[in-house]
Amino acid sequence: MSAVEGTVETVRGPVALSDLGPMLAHEHVVTSSVEFAKFYPELSWGGDRSEVVEDVVSRLQEIRDRGITSILDCTAYFHGRDMDFVREVNERVDIHLIMSTGIYTYDYLPYHVQFRKPTSVADDILTRMFLRDLTVGIGDSGVRAQSIKVATDTEGFTENNVRILRAAARASAETGAPITAHTHPADRQAQQLLDILADEGADLGTVVVAHSGDTDDLDYLRALMDRGAVMGDDRFGLYLPGTPSEEARMDVLATLCAEGYADRIVLSHDALLFCDWMEPGVVISDTWVPTRVSDVIVPGLRARGVSQKQLDSLLVSTPASLFAGVAS
Ligand SMILES: [Zn+2]
Repeated sequence: MSAVEGTVETVRGPVALSDLGPMLAHEHVVTSSVEFAKFYPELSWGGDRSEVVEDVVSRLQEIRDRGITSILDCTAYFHGRDMDFVREVNERVDIHLIMSTGIYTYDYLPYHVQFRKPTSVADDILTRMFLRDLTVGIGDSGVRAQSIKVATDTEGFTENNVRILRAAARASAETGAPITAHTHPADRQAQQLLDILADEGADLGTVVVAHSGDTDDLDYLRALMDRGAVMGDDRFGLYLPGTPSEEARMDVLATLCAEGYADRIVLSHDALLFCDWMEPGVVISDTWVPTRVSDVIVPGLRARGVSQKQLDSLLVSTPASLFAGVAS
């Protein structure tokens, strides 16, 4: 594949898309609930923030040691963004971190948003929030978000959810920023999601339908990619009940690569390198580690006949292409 031209803003400044290298397209460096961190830091950080910093640095370094050189961090508003923390760990690990705007909620909106009913999508406070992060920067960090995160889950396309999706699509259309949309594939949401985003002007070629690896319905997956959207096969290591096994996920991926879809798929773990939602030390799953793709999935795909060229597509050129239209 030809190199993707342009640059993308990272925590450490602009980076040429051709220099991003292998990317994990959906991870979370830090999830620190803002009001806990501010008012109950002893609860937020398990008592010692510096220990958390050390732990996240070592986990990021493990990823970097596998040859992964960039990460799209999909942590949005409500998910616990902490730019000071991200900057601090990034000073110690040589990896490109691309940050997100958006909002992580399936329906609920903060009152500040809920009570401000928009007269138009352009006027929506959500649109203005997303554009602010994309064009000015996230808070006072000076780091501009380059991607928009939204989420639709079992609640489906509620009024609030559609409002969020439209705001995200509008901000994407204005800036060229890609969208990563959390979905619940058991409910086969991709087509309706893409309809809403396209209706507001989003380029579907930069929409990642996230968590699509949670289904092995090949027709569903082909159909979303046939519209130009990207399959987020982004939960390697986290195999929720009722979703395909690791082996089945690799079989699906190999089949789709053989059919020519490697330029419409990105890989990741949706890992939470630190998350204050759980007690410190809680392990959700032994396999849910952000080195799983490098250590297990890539060799497993090779064994299934996936070529180096296809692997480069999944990990390098396809994720980089998401940012080709971002206004710099
Ligand atoms: Zn996520």
